[in-house]
Amino acid sequence: MPASSTPSPLLSVRDLRTYYHTDAGFVRAVDGVSFDVPRGGSVGIAGESGCGKTQTALSILGLIDDAPGIVGGQVWVDGENLLDGLGACCSIQENNGALTVAKDVGRWRKLHHRRLTRVRGRKISIVFQEPRSSLIPYRTVGEHLRETMAALDGKEATRAFEERAPALLEKLRFAHPDRVLHSYPHELSGGESQRVMLGLALMGRPQLLIADEPTTLLDAVTQRGVLEMLAAVVHEMNLALMLITHNLALLRLLVDRVVVMFAGQVVEQGPVAEVIDAAAGERSHPYTQDLLRVVADLDHPFTLPRASTPTTINPKVNRQGCRYFYRCRLKDRLSEDGKSRCLHEAPPAIPLEANHTVACWAYEDTGHGSRVMGHGS
Ligand code: SF4
Repeated sequence: MPASSTPSPLLSVRDLRTYYHTDAGFVRAVDGVSFDVPRGGSVGIAGESGCGKTQTALSILGLIDDAPGIVGGQVWVDGENLLDGLGACCSIQENNGALTVAKDVGRWRKLHHRRLTRVRGRKISIVFQEPRSSLIPYRTVGEHLRETMAALDGKEATRAFEERAPALLEKLRFAHPDRVLHSYPHELSGGESQRVMLGLALMGRPQLLIADEPTTLLDAVTQRGVLEMLAAVVHEMNLALMLITHNLALLRLLVDRVVVMFAGQVVEQGPVAEVIDAAAGERSHPYTQDLLRVVADLDHPFTLPRASTPTTINPKVNRQGCRYFYRCRLKDRLSEDGKSRCLHEAPPAIPLEANHTVACWAYEDTGHGSRVMGHGS
């Protein structure tokens, strides 16, 4: 892409594809995903377990090492395509649905990792949902922070540690930073551990923070505290935020836009309030509507989904046409021809409003309003 047409967002993902080779064949964990995160803006990635949202984040940061890994797409960060030239290291060919992938893993790693070293922790940082497993049990919080600082800024820069580390911990709402600096991970609560992980992620002063289900393992009260702190820190530091969660109602409180994923693909994206209102009024992608239903109560967005909620993707996914076909109730309102199209042709992103698209044939404008009752007519 020429410099003059470089996208202005901080992060611009285009047609991202991440495939894995398994005994059962290729798994298309991420399959043609595109979205933007503006500078200082916030985007939520929503979907159930296995929809590809975490794989998308790992792919952006080059944290998928093993072949075949990422085999296509563009990841623009601050005007640089992190996947530029990687196409020469791997190739993908599709013949009657059978995939063949060839990859020069050594060359891929050399090229990709050199580029990513400049980005990870500096421009983009990530926090995961299991803070305790990410902290080394025999090192204090201070040692974790000092090592991260040295890795990012060089050993010389750690002279500023005594000043920067307590200030960062104060920003993360620790009342006694000195106590925390000398604490070992087992001496911290779950919420404190997650705030320490956030501190490690912020040590390199990134422009974008990716938070992957950062509070899933915490109790409801602690979740609220961590999320309020996260929102405040993102605002104070003017960070862009990419928040990954299954909880649409939670996103409404914390982000501007939402990208809804199912089976490795984006099925809907738009302003978060508009997407949720459309889902509540059954004027959105049927998957978004189902996702909203599993959040127990919009007035209590910090509660977990009901126990009966399906939390993993049904392996029966339609590969040829719309991937949501076998779970979709909306298709029953379409004609036999319409249903057949759902089964055999993948729906494109169809605009519902400005900046709001839905990948569903039911919303195709037929010239007489959309195919689904109650919308566009
Ligand atoms: S394209 Fe068809 S099967 Fe897919 S979500 Fe829309 S109505 Fe349902």
